[in-house]
Amino acid sequence: MASAGPRFFGFVTGGALPAATAADVLTTAWDQCAFNPVLAPAGIAAERAAGEWLKQLLGIPGGASVGFVTGGQAANTVSLAAARHHLLAAAGWDVERDGLAGAPRLRVVASEERHATIDRALRLLGFGTAVVEPVAAAPDGAIDVADLERVLARGGGAPIVCLQAGNVNTGACDDLRAACELTHRHRGWAHVDGAFGLWAAASPATAALVDGAELADSWACDGHKWLNVPYDCGFAFCAHPDSHAAAVSYSASYLVGSGGGVRGGADFTLESSRRARGFTVWAALRELGRDGVAELVERCRALARRFAGRLAEGGAEIVNDVVLNQVLAGFGDDGRTDRVVAAVQREGTCWLGGTTWRGRRLLRISVSNHATTEADVDASAAAILRLAARE
Ligand SMILES: *Cc1c(COP(=O)(O)O)cnc(C)c1O
Repeated sequence: MASAGPRFFGFVTGGALPAATAADVLTTAWDQCAFNPVLAPAGIAAERAAGEWLKQLLGIPGGASVGFVTGGQAANTVSLAAARHHLLAAAGWDVERDGLAGAPRLRVVASEERHATIDRALRLLGFGTAVVEPVAAAPDGAIDVADLERVLARGGGAPIVCLQAGNVNTGACDDLRAACELTHRHRGWAHVDGAFGLWAAASPATAALVDGAELADSWACDGHKWLNVPYDCGFAFCAHPDSHAAAVSYSASYLVGSGGGVRGGADFTLESSRRARGFTVWAALRELGRDGVAELVERCRALARRFAGRLAEGGAEIVNDVVLNQVLAGFGDDGRTDRVVAAVQREGTCWLGGTTWRGRRLLRISVSNHATTEADVDASAAAILRLAARE
């Protein structure tokens, strides 16, 4: 599958920047194990430098810890483990030693529009998925803050509140400022799943979408989606580094002291031996710079809007407000829309998938590749309209 190419609009799939790709080849050749600074001094230094730049770009407080993980799934899991530790420690319970059986009750409050990886993280962490107290979403997919307030007001334990920047269908972002403030009023932990949407913070044109993100307690973000580094690469950030490390780090007699007392590397991730992911991120950010990252975000958003405009001119219905890089388009009834998706996948000018949104089958377009041009969008939209005319 040409998923690294400029006309691949399926899922949320980034390409790979030239410098990041070269750094990834070197990472393989150097074969460093980024467990700690003794094993991989350069690998850990790259994570430190890139981690600081990431926090600046994503609007995350400078004191936050960063774990370079495999992706959004791992980042959500690490973040919720840190939340579990933090809230239970505050209640006088050592969950790392004693587990969840008999622990004070923790609530998990999450939008009905949360990403499925939140549920998998809850399964793995022993909460189970039934613990979730769902919050309604507004028509655009962002959390309904009034309903969040109602759910939190039920009480019954400190809440972990799972918020989202970037709905996988619409790109909509939760009102993070209001939601984080409400969460903290209830002595809870606010987690933001911003796998791709948190990159909105990097551009003045889109930063308002994630206003208030800095108030959260933990953040999940991907490198392999919108930053366009090669797979796999994600980041788990935490405003409480001690809780982050307490939840996932470990030690052993032959390891003690080998980190020189400085935390980093495997202290903030689920892996023990791990790939030195800092090199690709460092290279991508050096290649782009702050302005280049902002321009990448703005360009993908402008291309998504162009795509929506071309399709609408040709008679498609654009169902979402294209606030970021996601476009949802319909061609009449569900059957015809599904046939258009299948025809596009067969024909090969571009690739995109279908989705179900608010009970309707729709074409789903994600513009996340640094190499996509206006010509790619125009050729793809023309092909989609040509194929739709035959269905
Ligand atoms: C992609 C995505 C994830 C999962 O990330 P992976 O990198 O695939 O593990 C989680 N949340 C959101 C909102 C996503 O878009």
